[in-house]
Amino acid sequence: MSGRATGVAILGATGSIGKSALAVVRQHPDRFRPVVLTAHRNAGALAALVSEHRPALAVVADPSAASGVYSAGPTRWASGREALLEAATHPDVDVVLNALVGAAGLEPTLAALRAGKRVALANKESLVCAGPLVMRAAEEGGGRLLPVDSEHSAIFQCLQGSQWREVERLLITASGGPFRGWTPERLAAATPADALRHPTWSMGSKVTIDSATLANKALEVIEAHFLFGVPYDRIQAVVHPQSVIHSMVEFVDGSVLAQMGFPTMEIPVLYALAYPERLPYACRRFDPVAAGTLTFEPLHADRFRAFALGVEAGRAGGTAPAVFNAANEVAVAAFLEGGLSFPGIAAAIDDALARWPGGEAATLDDVLRADAWARGVTRTFVRG
Ligand code: NAD
Ligand code: MG
Repeated sequence: MSGRATGVAILGATGSIGKSALAVVRQHPDRFRPVVLTAHRNAGALAALVSEHRPALAVVADPSAASGVYSAGPTRWASGREALLEAATHPDVDVVLNALVGAAGLEPTLAALRAGKRVALANKESLVCAGPLVMRAAEEGGGRLLPVDSEHSAIFQCLQGSQWREVERLLITASGGPFRGWTPERLAAATPADALRHPTWSMGSKVTIDSATLANKALEVIEAHFLFGVPYDRIQAVVHPQSVIHSMVEFVDGSVLAQMGFPTMEIPVLYALAYPERLPYACRRFDPVAAGTLTFEPLHADRFRAFALGVEAGRAGGTAPAVFNAANEVAVAAFLEGGLSFPGIAAAIDDALARWPGGEAATLDDVLRADAWARGVTRTFVRG
């Protein structure tokens, strides 16, 4: 990749991670060139990014939102599922930053890895739905997965220079979300506005709700399991309200490495794009005195049932994690629309997993069928 700028596709350029990625690219215009930018429906916001960055391809994923935005200039505009796959495999792209939200990110992840691309993965749902398929696509296509999720970037950074057999345990930190310490009675009445008020991170609405239910931490445990090949009984989540330590690795000799800094997604994005190099970056520098006291608490899986259900689904394997993910996506959307209570999210997931008939996730078709089945079951639960 030396000699010319790394070609980057930013899938989900209009989102929270997409914005962090464009901030990174702006600081290193000689190193990173946005070749492809995509959005779901907000064609206007994408058009503004296109006139700034002049990519080769711009994709509005939802065809019904794609009319009337075709600007003059070097950019070709396209829309629909095929266009999103084209975005993930574009010949001038070296790195695909997958910042889509939900299971919609799975097929682009698979396509990019099969085409031999580096995939900087923010879309944890890809790995949760189809971990073995994603890892196999990387192996067969010669692509490489690099984590963007802050916890996984932290673990990946701590693992540099060590062997797999030297790793004892992964310690994934969780802020605890806005409802840390809330009683079940208070949780029962929690509103979307309460849940969207995250104490340490500013993110898209789906992952923010996932951080309130702690479903996000279960998704991250599953993500870590597949990404690092570590069994579930050697992955532990711990609450760390300050979000300064982004995660830790314990080695067989008892030594523990932690990666830390003030919360920002720009650093993990930069690390995934530039790896194995570290590039200079202008950001708020770490100040241990300003960070103050760092504390840790157990994660109360009994109070945050979505977490326990997700880890259980991960352990069950097959299509259970895809069912967990799909049920969660539908339940979160229903909660945000006012059609489900906060505890209803975990109840909906529980219902779908209880009805899950079992099944292997051997092919993409298996996964897509389980995903569609779980969405149907959960919509029925929500209406019920
Ligand atoms: P977001 O909602 O802010 O942005 C999502 C982006 O994907 C938008 O550009 C949107 O237009 C696009 N998109 C949404 N649905 C789509 C669909 N069905 N088809 C095509 N495009 C679609 O979300 P975000 O907070 O940036 O999160 C993106 C991913 O990164 C999620 O998987 C999330 O869990 C993960 N993540 C986010 C953060 C964070 O700080 N925001 C941190 C860690 C991991
Ligand atoms: Mg995370």
